[in-house]
Amino acid sequence: MKNKTKIGIIICDRYRKCAGGKCFKAIQNRDGAFNIYKKEEELEIVGYTTCGGCPGGNIEYAPEEMKKNGAEVIHFATGFVVGYPPCPYIAHFRNFIKEKYSIKVIVGTHPIPQKYYDVHTKLGTWESSEWKELIQPTLSDEKTRLAYN
Ligand code: SF4
Repeated sequence: MKNKTKIGIIICDRYRKCAGGKCFKAIQNRDGAFNIYKKEEELEIVGYTTCGGCPGGNIEYAPEEMKKNGAEVIHFATGFVVGYPPCPYIAHFRNFIKEKYSIKVIVGTHPIPQKYYDVHTKLGTWESSEWKELIQPTLSDEKTRLAYN
């Protein structure tokens, strides 16, 4: 069994001051998008940065640094999907990183906090099939979403 995976995290620049509290909690608990990793599997964060601000100039370069440090997977932080509005470039960024760097991309880190879930549900933000797919890794259940409020 594989016992260590190296991952990079890219956050939405609107949350650039974020210290990563929810992401690192979710890594420890294997919640949200991190539930694809087994608890016995060590996760090493080999890069953590922002997209660089709209329209995401850092997406072009940050994965290269992460790859040099051994990143096998890049997670886009949950802020990409919960912002008001959510990032409109997610699909493009994901395709670009896969094509240029051959690194797996997962959309999301920690579970969607319930307060964001409630407002986006009222707004109808995630009703399309594309958005349903994008939020799937971080949707979690209500109890877990409340734990990340
Ligand atoms: S909305 Fe997208 S491009 Fe704009 S700052 Fe956030 S992640 Fe970057």
